[in-house]
Amino acid sequence: MDVREPRDSRGGPSWPPNSFDAALQSDLNEIRESGLFRTLRTVTSAQGPLITIDGKEYLNFCSNDYLGLANHPQLKEAARTAIETFGVGAGASRLVCGNLQPYDDLELAIAEFKHKEAAIVFSSGYAANLGVITALVGEGDVVIIDKLCHASIIDGCRQSGATLRVYPHLNVSKLEALLRQAAESRITTHNSRLLVITETVFSMDGDVAPLREIVSLKETYGAWLMIDEAHGTGVFGVNGRGAAEQFGVEDRVEITLGTLSKAIGCMGGYVAGSRTLIDYLRNKARGLIYSTALPPSICAAAAVAVEIVMSEEGRKRREVLWRNLDQIGKLMTREGGDDRQPSPILPCIIGDEKAAVEVSHQLFERGVYVPAIRYPTVARGKARLRITVTAAHRDEHIVRLSNELNAAWKRD
Ligand SMILES: *Cc1c(COP(=O)(O)O)cnc(C)c1O
Repeated sequence: MDVREPRDSRGGPSWPPNSFDAALQSDLNEIRESGLFRTLRTVTSAQGPLITIDGKEYLNFCSNDYLGLANHPQLKEAARTAIETFGVGAGASRLVCGNLQPYDDLELAIAEFKHKEAAIVFSSGYAANLGVITALVGEGDVVIIDKLCHASIIDGCRQSGATLRVYPHLNVSKLEALLRQAAESRITTHNSRLLVITETVFSMDGDVAPLREIVSLKETYGAWLMIDEAHGTGVFGVNGRGAAEQFGVEDRVEITLGTLSKAIGCMGGYVAGSRTLIDYLRNKARGLIYSTALPPSICAAAAVAVEIVMSEEGRKRREVLWRNLDQIGKLMTREGGDDRQPSPILPCIIGDEKAAVEVSHQLFERGVYVPAIRYPTVARGKARLRITVTAAHRDEHIVRLSNELNAAWKRD
């Protein structure tokens, strides 16, 4: 019998040649036909307002490097020094021998920055959300989230086994109804936990959660609150601590989560809160226990970035960022009305997936890189350009964006 050609009892091939790829290909064709096919572009330069792709320079309006720290000389120097001392890989999980000194320094810096007793760092914001949610709630508990919460929050909730309740985006009266319902049923389920989770600045819409209302509701109903400051950290609040600082509610939030990969310019996720919370996570968060520690160089660079965010230089960078946002606001009228609080994330809702891809493509042809964000990242029919502005952009970049956008996107 020819081993290269397995045969079933009827003598034909037991399955069509390469049926594995054929099965996947048919899914991919569906994705392609709906205008949802994704590919990667390779960037051959460092992050900045101008990046190089295929040997050509593009104006970059899609990075989350809000303060322009990802390529900052002091961060690079810190990473180089750490490599000299500690090498490249951490070698093991932090709970084994991977907990190199830069981790401790970074966690101290984050706790100080966030005005919390302690902080703990995960290998990404995604891992932090999965780790903290699955550690805090499980079967028999209830977790309530905003409809537009990030995939990592949704995945954490699903994986936790807790009952998941979702309220319409920013709708605090629906949140209250869900809280009331959960609090009532809790009377019969002894010791069950009730957790509310929201982003502070929503990653794809750039709008800001009504934190004061949410905080007072969770207090009324005896729930815990977790906020994801992925896009708030470094950007919002006089000291850049996030939207919770701006709303004056920092001390009333049990769990503050964020990422080191956006305004901090590095990589990693963190949770800040009470010492008890952090001890608890160190013992319970699987993503922390069963995953190798971050490279020491990235921890060292992130610690320097946190120091910069807290410093006079950080304040100045925030000032430039907000000035840039003012400037862009004057040049472009924004989707969703202009009464909402501004943020560095500016969605231009186009709706149709293929149309959004086409406008993004037109912009790219004109040397401006603004991605089209489509399902499943956002709802079907809500495809959009997602423009992000940073402190590193200059006036001429913003003027050019506005001109090219007007040329590429004919609104009717
Ligand atoms: C980006 C993001 C994350 C994930 O952070 P990474 O460090 O990129 O893994 C989590 N939550 C929100 C709201 C985000 O926007």
